[in-house]
Amino acid sequence: MQSLDDFARGKLQDLEARGLRRRLNSTARVSGIHVERDGRRLISFSCNDYLNLSQDPRVRASAKAAIDSYGAGAGASRLVTGNHPLLEQLERRLAKFKGAEAACVFGSGYLANAGIIPTLAGNGSLILIDELAHSCIRAGARLSAARSLMFRHNDMDNLKALLAANRASAKRCLIATDGVFSMDGDLAPLKSLSELAKQYDCWLMVDDAHGLGVLNGGHGSTLGYDVPLQMGTLSKAIGGYGGYICASSSVIDLIKTRAGSFIYTTGLPPSCVGAAIAALDIVESEPELTALPLAKAREFTGLMNLPEAQSPVVPLIVGDARRAMQLAAALEEDGFLVVAIRPPTVPEGGSRLRLTFSAGHPDDEIERLASAIRKQLRRAVA
Ligand SMILES: *Cc1c(COP(=O)(O)O)cnc(C)c1O
Repeated sequence: MQSLDDFARGKLQDLEARGLRRRLNSTARVSGIHVERDGRRLISFSCNDYLNLSQDPRVRASAKAAIDSYGAGAGASRLVTGNHPLLEQLERRLAKFKGAEAACVFGSGYLANAGIIPTLAGNGSLILIDELAHSCIRAGARLSAARSLMFRHNDMDNLKALLAANRASAKRCLIATDGVFSMDGDLAPLKSLSELAKQYDCWLMVDDAHGLGVLNGGHGSTLGYDVPLQMGTLSKAIGGYGGYICASSSVIDLIKTRAGSFIYTTGLPPSCVGAAIAALDIVESEPELTALPLAKAREFTGLMNLPEAQSPVVPLIVGDARRAMQLAAALEEDGFLVVAIRPPTVPEGGSRLRLTFSAGHPDDEIERLASAIRKQLRRAVA
């Protein structure tokens, strides 16, 4: 019999040979845009902290104040004794900001999807998921007893065909997509999606992890569309940690009663909740700040002659995984942290540099980055 260690080593060797082994790099974030790695200071184009709020003095102070009031941890599940008063305050604020009746805060965005989807879609239900939607949507679907199908990315004809062929045989149907696609930066066609959802009597869930705080004055990609299930994270533009869903009061009550990743896990620590409340204050009172990440991304796509950015996420598709790693390493030599993304996070042959732009990136650094990337791409061709 193969030993456990032989099993692990064999797997790792295989992944290494395909350029797919992953390694952690100790990284200290030293400002909104700078990190330190291996003793070097780099400018990061890889954080999802779009408004640099994780480092904001007001957000840090609010996190510290929450610790002083309520301690370092929640101490139990929210349904036991972990429901400290800041959580209810944050949920009211989120619901109001997203134009929903109520909200439920989870430990993370991943946990949110892992709990919401099985609560709403069970045996006899159908789940239709955009093929490029985030991994945790698929994880949530696998945790449910529902049948799930993928539709081609943003392809409404394909979705319609799947609905026509499969909707009638399912009791209930959930359509789930990212609002802003995390690895491609493009937007879901929410108008068509909500129309199809109505036409075929489906529930629409939009994961707006990369929309909150940076699109439509910070309200996110769903603003102005009829989306009954608005899910997102507090870990990106909000700068801290946690996940949420905004929906009607009855849906939220059901989720709080039934979602496993809400019930059987400890409540979010007071510091995270305090940070999120202060970050929301900033998002709500400084709409001009929320517009900056997209404007910066558009500066870059303009300089690079790429299609105009639709969000602060800009992919530079390279194809080969090893080549993407080499490019990232070369840019690191030039002082830029631009992380390469490989399968299975992206489809086979779709390895890329994934760039994210934040409010704090100075224009001259964006110009320097564009010329460094152009230099590396020329070198590769030569
Ligand atoms: C990052 C991300 C998540 C997970 O959120 P966390 O709070 O980091 O767990 C979920 N969905 C999408 C689309 C994401 O990009």
